[in-house]
Amino acid sequence: MPEGLESIVGRHYSTGKLIELTVAGGRIAAVNGLAEDIGSEVKGGAESGTGIGIGVGTLSDAGGGIPWLAPGLVDLQVNGSFGIDFNTLPLRMEDVSGITRLLQAGGVTSYCPTLITNSSAAIGEAAAAFAAAVRSDPAAAAGIAGIHLEGPFLSPEDGPRGAHPAEHICPPDWEAFVRWQDAAEGLIRIITISPEWPEAPSFITRCSDAGVIVSIGHTAASPAQIREAIAAGARMSTHLGNGTHLSLPRHPNYLLEQLAADELWGCMIADGFHLPPSLLKLILRMKCEQAILVSDAVSLSGMPPGHYRLHIGGEVVLTEEGRLHLAGNPGLLAGSAMQLAEQVAGLACSGLAGLDEAWNCASLHPAGLLGLPQAAGLAPGAPADIVSFRRDGARLKLLDCWKNGVKSRCSVE
Ligand SMILES: [Zn+2]
Repeated sequence: MPEGLESIVGRHYSTGKLIELTVAGGRIAAVNGLAEDIGSEVKGGAESGTGIGIGVGTLSDAGGGIPWLAPGLVDLQVNGSFGIDFNTLPLRMEDVSGITRLLQAGGVTSYCPTLITNSSAAIGEAAAAFAAAVRSDPAAAAGIAGIHLEGPFLSPEDGPRGAHPAEHICPPDWEAFVRWQDAAEGLIRIITISPEWPEAPSFITRCSDAGVIVSIGHTAASPAQIREAIAAGARMSTHLGNGTHLSLPRHPNYLLEQLAADELWGCMIADGFHLPPSLLKLILRMKCEQAILVSDAVSLSGMPPGHYRLHIGGEVVLTEEGRLHLAGNPGLLAGSAMQLAEQVAGLACSGLAGLDEAWNCASLHPAGLLGLPQAAGLAPGAPADIVSFRRDGARLKLLDCWKNGVKSRCSVE
């Protein structure tokens, strides 16, 4: 292998074929198929030629085998992780850099740090902190695909509002958004709003014209308002089925309207706690190539099980299974603590999607929405954002992660 080139051998996560990826200059230079009889290690590999095609409830590798290779994961909604909350100020640059590295160790090669409803000054300060991190740290610049601003232009109603603080919820305000975008040095790529405000359509049009993706979420909008938002340029739904009223009119309603809208990419939290399997299946079937898995991870993601105290939410419990609930009311979730790769494994184990389809929902699909070159996947010319893993029972054992061709060891099993 000539100097400057790296060869990565493994099974393609979708086709099951044995492949060699040649990496040069941070990109995938070539993808070549290999013969199945190149070595004894290969013979112990998983079933070939039919994709991963796992059965319900298991991801086992059928006797070991060489690693699987898949594109790096892309997470559009990360509120924090590993004990750091992106919405608790001051936000230190080293924390941003550290989380970027740790997410990568969990297979996430691109992500959107998510800022939620807060005072105007606090949103500006947090946005400026990410801009500074991207300016000074090349690894943060490579890993951060843009800020996702979730709020403050959301529904003021209890239920749809979720945990967003009521005192800072307000109608869409273009001047305020421009101030935050200036503070972010143009880094805001997604904004979640509720279209129930009369100001919404004109705000959405301005965002679309500026290249910012508008997502519908935390909404009490009427179906007509959902359609107006789509006509104005809204392109995504934020965590469909969560951040809603407890009861909805049988039809029409804002959930069905978004499910049925081909224009909208649909994000879902598949941690096994936020949505029932039937709704996950509906989103997968209705959105197809536009179905997206997000972690919506809060600061306790990546932390050991136990009792914690959160800035918003108070006393909470993180269980062995990864469920995060209020200590005083175990029936109420306090956010999502599961990392994206675990959600991919969980969705595949549920039998609702093959592992390759679940993986695409957390990699190619979100990259496609953002217009990233990573949407090409394991293809010549694409950035060498690659994850190798083994399948182990109900989990994925991540081995190595490459970001723009730079390799690091993974820490998540
Ligand atoms: Zn939310």
